[in-house]
Amino acid sequence: MVPIILCSLLLASVGTAELEGHFDLAKCRYALGMQDRTIPDKDLSASSSWSDSTAAKYSRLDTSDGDGAWCPAGPVYPNDAEFLEVDLRRLHFLTLVGTQGRHAGGHGKEFARAYRLHYSRDRRRWLTWRDRWGNEVISGNVNTNEVVLKDLGPPIIARYIRFYPRADRVMSVCLRVELYGCLWRDGLQSYTAPMGQVMPLQPEPVYLNDSTYDGLSISKLQFGGLGQLADGVVGLDDFTRTKELRVWPGYDYIGWKNDSFSMGYVEMEFEFDCLRTFTYMKVHCNNMHTRGVSIFRQVDCRFKQNLETAWDPELVTHLLAVDVKDPSARSVTVPLEGRLGHFLQCHFYFSNEWMLFSEIAFLSEVVEDPSLTGTSRWPPVVPPQPSGRGAAAPSVQEDLGSTLHGEPRPTSNLTRQDLEVQGNPKTSQPVAKDDNSNTSILIGCLVAIILLLLVVIFLILWRQYWKKILGKAQRRISDDDLTVHLSVPGDTIVINNTMGSQRHSSRYERIQSGETEYQEPNRARMKLPDLPHGTENSACSSDYMEPDSSGALAPVPNNVPHYAEADIINLQGVTGGNTYAVPAVAVDALAAKDVALAEFPRGRLRFKEKLGEGQFGEVHLCEVESPQDLLNLEFPFNVRKGRPLLVAVKILRSDATKNARNDFLKEVKIMSRLKDPNIVRLLGVCVRDDPLCMITEYMENGDLNQFLSAHELEAKTGGSASDAPTISYPTLIHVAAQIASGMKFLASLNFVHRDLATRNCLVGEGFTIKIADFGMSRNLYSGDYYRIQGRAVLPIRWMAWECILMGKFTTASDVWAFGVTLWEVLMLCQEQPYSQLTDEQVIENAGQFFRDQGEQVYLSRPPACPLALYEVMLRCWARDAKDRPLFQHLHRFLNEDALNMVLG
Ligand code: ADP
Repeated sequence: MVPIILCSLLLASVGTAELEGHFDLAKCRYALGMQDRTIPDKDLSASSSWSDSTAAKYSRLDTSDGDGAWCPAGPVYPNDAEFLEVDLRRLHFLTLVGTQGRHAGGHGKEFARAYRLHYSRDRRRWLTWRDRWGNEVISGNVNTNEVVLKDLGPPIIARYIRFYPRADRVMSVCLRVELYGCLWRDGLQSYTAPMGQVMPLQPEPVYLNDSTYDGLSISKLQFGGLGQLADGVVGLDDFTRTKELRVWPGYDYIGWKNDSFSMGYVEMEFEFDCLRTFTYMKVHCNNMHTRGVSIFRQVDCRFKQNLETAWDPELVTHLLAVDVKDPSARSVTVPLEGRLGHFLQCHFYFSNEWMLFSEIAFLSEVVEDPSLTGTSRWPPVVPPQPSGRGAAAPSVQEDLGSTLHGEPRPTSNLTRQDLEVQGNPKTSQPVAKDDNSNTSILIGCLVAIILLLLVVIFLILWRQYWKKILGKAQRRISDDDLTVHLSVPGDTIVINNTMGSQRHSSRYERIQSGETEYQEPNRARMKLPDLPHGTENSACSSDYMEPDSSGALAPVPNNVPHYAEADIINLQGVTGGNTYAVPAVAVDALAAKDVALAEFPRGRLRFKEKLGEGQFGEVHLCEVESPQDLLNLEFPFNVRKGRPLLVAVKILRSDATKNARNDFLKEVKIMSRLKDPNIVRLLGVCVRDDPLCMITEYMENGDLNQFLSAHELEAKTGGSASDAPTISYPTLIHVAAQIASGMKFLASLNFVHRDLATRNCLVGEGFTIKIADFGMSRNLYSGDYYRIQGRAVLPIRWMAWECILMGKFTTASDVWAFGVTLWEVLMLCQEQPYSQLTDEQVIENAGQFFRDQGEQVYLSRPPACPLALYEVMLRCWARDAKDRPLFQHLHRFLNEDALNMVLG
């Protein structure tokens, strides 16, 4: 049963990955260089400007050169004829624009409440951008300084962009802008295709037209433009459903009916920006055969190098097995054998009543060497393999190519990277590869299942063995205790966290006194295999003061990890069935070793004051007289002779449960191994008798959250309006850099913190920051934690989507939490992350990240945060963990670039 679920699950996830791997719009959101001046002044122009100091070159977002913005000479009301033009030099895929008014250090008053965008690929034909519902006007700014970002749906593929500010009354307007997107590497400038048709389904017809096509159309043929086959959105398995809300059924697909094409195929032509050598074409097709829709059974492609020349008679032909079993939509990769061409014509043969495409993309390389013109493939030494049947069947529409060349337009939207992931098929491969070929997936599934079963059997045996040995019953938390019901519009996701082991998850449960699982003390002390970074040696081990027997903490030598059990998390959509097997996150191995920590002589601690109260009990400030006498204590700082050492002492409350006691000791063990300037240092422990204490270095300014929220941002001119202490922006960056440094250290040990947040960082002298809390604190900040059905609590506002939905904690999810922590720092902890969202909505938002349909909400850019810094934050929240930055890069960026940015 489990294997079947897993297998279907794996297949389902592969299917999803395939769809999503097609083109990642989320990645294509780089600032293209207005703010950072990568776009030079000479590429900025305007219809007019009010003065030299408000020329086009002053239109850069978040800069205040000249008089602080571009301002046109003439009014923009009632005619909006003034424009600002940006030449991007090459075709780009634009996904976002940002606008801002003229602030000019508080002197500016002008901004544009709305604007239109025009774009061009060749500067001859200008097109007006419209959203999916045909609206041209974009809402702009409401004040002079705030940046307003607008997602472009559909995206624009263009080299030239014009902003036309608008006003609804006579008023001056000024504009600063940024463009976001990425280079359009496909080089496709336009495609020609027969118009999509209407499928007469009940209760409503399905419109399979290319609704964003920006070329021309004559007698049922569209040419000279780009549209939905290049918008980066691939269709769903069920073509009547759409990813975009508020659009009509069939929106994502272009579809043609077999009986409208007497030749039995659909002919499409593609024009590229220059001569290229083609590796493959990728066509995303629907295959809902129950509705008469199937992928094509054959495709013939031919090439030509010049407009004037004839099509090269040698065809590339690929045959596909028609799949009537699996109705899922898929990307079909068609190897193009390294052929050279500037133009490409393909015939896609019907295999069913209908053929529906949602995307077409190409992997090709620009041919720099003009001497290759005339050869038919690259590398030219390869003798042509006549793979086509019936070579050179001349097309009845062969001359159509000439009609489309006037309008350069790119179309496909696979990135080269996406395509490379698929591997390099041999150019001589005779039959097109269907990416959905499930054989390898099935083999993978079977192997995974076998492994999983072995692990499960091993765990069961192991568990029973220990139950016998210890003779203790172990209460289990029922599965539904940890079930979160997520409601998403039109969809329901259930996270069902089946607790196989309580070790790691218990961190979220301790707050519930009565209900926690009974934890065998001995189990908690089982010894784990050595760590590569371990510093322990046998001599040191003997220093460790074992608690007395009443503490039930005698170590049981055992090499079996006590955490090696798997949690299975089920994620089910309304259509059911998607189950993801996620191995439980191992309780940190750092905690697993007995630690060489000297017993601190309790009598040397002199209480001074209470610092706070944590989940384990109180934290006291204590003095240690003549700390130099304590020879086996290695203090991280020099204490002046004759001066007492101040330390923080965390004391386990007397009524602590066994669980709390174990967790306390676990935190001790973890901390004893973490020695870094940005991690709170454990100085000693008192574990020989009760109450258990851990002694850490004292951080005189308390936790970072309280510290920052008591501060105000220092104005650039210095000072502050109120009496509150101020903090400068460079200091905030310095604070963040220190957190990144501490996390870099943890990451180097493969240690996953899981609860990084400002509340868990401490502040010392001179804005020194140290990461603390390796045991999940939450009394003071209980509002930051989400309680699942009354028991488990999770810091969901800091958690990556995969932690919320799949319980998958990794260094990359720590990077996500770092992004949120950075946001808190730059907001001076004045606001809780996503304060406008309820806990349930935050979880829903995690679902949106999972679906990746552009509906997810990001934390907004903090005031005064440079855009480049905000972009780094956004990268921390990348959907794919592998796209998130590493801590070492974050640290370098914050320590160098970001600091220079805010200092400069
Ligand atoms: P929890 O157990 O909830 O994680 P802690 O025990 O870490 O909480 O700390 C509770 C409070 O005590 C913190 O919010 C902080 O204000 C204070 N505190 C803890 N450790 C230190 C320290 N080393 N130096 C100064 N203050 C500390």
